Amino acid sequence: MFKKATTALLLMSLSLLTVVTLETFLFRPQKLSTTEATAPVLAPEKQLLAIDAEHPLLAIHQLAARSPEEALVRLEQWRAGLTRPPEVIEQIFSLWVRRLAAKNEPSVLDSIDSELNKIAKVHRLSWLLAKLDIESAYKDFRRGSYPEGITKIMDAIKFVEHIRADFLLLEAYNTAGALYNSDNQLKLSQKYFIKGVEVGRKYPESEYNVRFNNNLGLLYVHSEQWERAIEYLVRAEILGETLESIEPETKFIVLMNQSFVYNKLGKVNESREAFAKGIRYIDEHTPALYRIIRLKSETRLLLLEGQPDKALGVAIACMNAEAIDKYPRQLGICQMEHAMALKDLGRLNEAREAIETSIASFTEIDHKRWLIRSHLLKANILEKQGEHEQALQVYQTYHEKERNQILSEIQNLGTAFEIQELERERDLLDLQNELKEFEQGLTEQRVRLLYIWLGFALLVAVWLVARWVAERKRNQYLHDLSFNDPLTAVGNRRFYQRELETPVVLDPKAIYRVTLVDIDRFKLINDNFGHEVGDGVLKEVAARIKSELQDHEVIVRWGGEEFLLAVSDGADYCERAQSLIAAVNKKPIVVGDHQLEVTISIGASEPYTLEGLRVSKRAFSIADECLYQAKERGRNQLVMPEEL
Ligand code: GH3
Ligand code: MG
Ligand code: MG
Repeated sequence: MFKKATTALLLMSLSLLTVVTLETFLFRPQKLSTTEATAPVLAPEKQLLAIDAEHPLLAIHQLAARSPEEALVRLEQWRAGLTRPPEVIEQIFSLWVRRLAAKNEPSVLDSIDSELNKIAKVHRLSWLLAKLDIESAYKDFRRGSYPEGITKIMDAIKFVEHIRADFLLLEAYNTAGALYNSDNQLKLSQKYFIKGVEVGRKYPESEYNVRFNNNLGLLYVHSEQWERAIEYLVRAEILGETLESIEPETKFIVLMNQSFVYNKLGKVNESREAFAKGIRYIDEHTPALYRIIRLKSETRLLLLEGQPDKALGVAIACMNAEAIDKYPRQLGICQMEHAMALKDLGRLNEAREAIETSIASFTEIDHKRWLIRSHLLKANILEKQGEHEQALQVYQTYHEKERNQILSEIQNLGTAFEIQELERERDLLDLQNELKEFEQGLTEQRVRLLYIWLGFALLVAVWLVARWVAERKRNQYLHDLSFNDPLTAVGNRRFYQRELETPVVLDPKAIYRVTLVDIDRFKLINDNFGHEVGDGVLKEVAARIKSELQDHEVIVRWGGEEFLLAVSDGADYCERAQSLIAAVNKKPIVVGDHQLEVTISIGASEPYTLEGLRVSKRAFSIADECLYQAKERGRNQLVMPEEL
């Protein structure tokens, strides 16, 4: 009952352990799987590489940003060498190269874009349509049509995320950030720039990484946190230096921004330096916008350096710059700088006129931030003109507006950004720690289970050994029981029988005489001293006889106080038999308090081989006869068959 219960319990724990082990070892931490219906769209560069692992168009496209003419030449060479019609993606890249080369020709740009549009529609290239939408939104940004741009870019982002064209996200987020920034929705602007920085980590080679840092720097410019702004702008510059394929205009913009912030920080030398560094990246071939920005930046620098006369010249150049009508915000800024220069020169009436044109420009594009700034400048000019009441009115209105409507939002920006970053980092850290802890726990659990199994195996091994030992002991015991005499510890009749059949102690080649030994008057010992003393005598006699025997001779207890010996025959047989008698009688046997004089009588057979002993009963009966004679002749003696 107990054994059954133990076995059942053992089996149960064993199966439980097996289940737990399997689960622990086969368990794999699951990755969060985002099941998406559509496969991601391959980036256009990768589509090209799928045609040719070293597709020349890739290099030509990269070249186009720096040396458009050379790129066009190489494009023609590539087309001429082509023995098959160009693939769609090759047509697209060719158009992109041409578009990069045609930066200064708006009509060419438009025709290229409509061609791209046609390709996108004919071949149902949703990614190309999305890209064109993003580009169109960026044009709105350049043009100052922010609300239209924002609507477009939000649709485009939704679409890009839907078709999983990840490679377009950078461009899209940057455009969204820039549009929101210009539209004074600074938090949304920040959101998309941060998204951009995140996606940018997947594309370390992308120049958008430079742009996002630049733009985050600009957001701090708006919140007038100059130190933080310069941090991002310097980071953007450094990133730009490590990237080969970056457009020079991007580097230029970063440095212009730096120049401005250094100026605000009162670091006039650094400001000049950044400006000087920046203008190295542009020349007369640079698109008009950048040349305008250069003029705008220079004016501002000159004003801050206290050179209004020079500033005035540059501001006028800016207002009359090529394609300035396409960039109303830049125009407004240049007009405002023009007013500043006039004001600094003391030409207040002209300054007043100039600021009105600036206000008109900003009103047209409804640019709130610049509108406020221009109005504040107007108040400043009015004040200088002595029109305090009017100045105060303008000042109050716009200063209030500035403080309430914009700065409140702007000032939140820094903290919002920091908090977001911190939260993100903390989330990541938490997740990492959780994963680590989980993995550690799993490993520990596995080790624990291994130990349990090891302990279990050890237990089973010990149990098996113990069982084996017990079995052996039992067998030995049974063996001893069946072949040994428990009292005297010599063999019994079965032992003798076995020795005759399969000799272990006896030598099969030797000649033996059956030698019967009987204790004399043993009954008397029992009668006089008790059965126990008799037992003691039996033991001692057996021991004394055994000690006289050789290795291949045996003694067995034949029954009662009678022993049978197989003693090897030889010339010394009689002598040895006599020595047995002497071994018993030469000194008294001590049992407890008793000293007993004990003698034995011996009867011997003729010599026999083992085979002879086995088949014939005669040896025993002769020995028995001799023993009888020995008793008859007075005991304590040996009788040989020859004497019969
Ligand atoms: P004899 O000299 O003629 O051999 O005389 P004896 O007394 O030795 O012979 P007998 O056959 O009359 O007596 C043998 C006695 O041995 C009888 C029996 O009680 C006793 N005996 C037999 N087996 C044992 C035993 O295992 N222990 C003890 N204490 N006595 C035993
Ligand atoms: Mg006897
Ligand atoms: Mg007897």
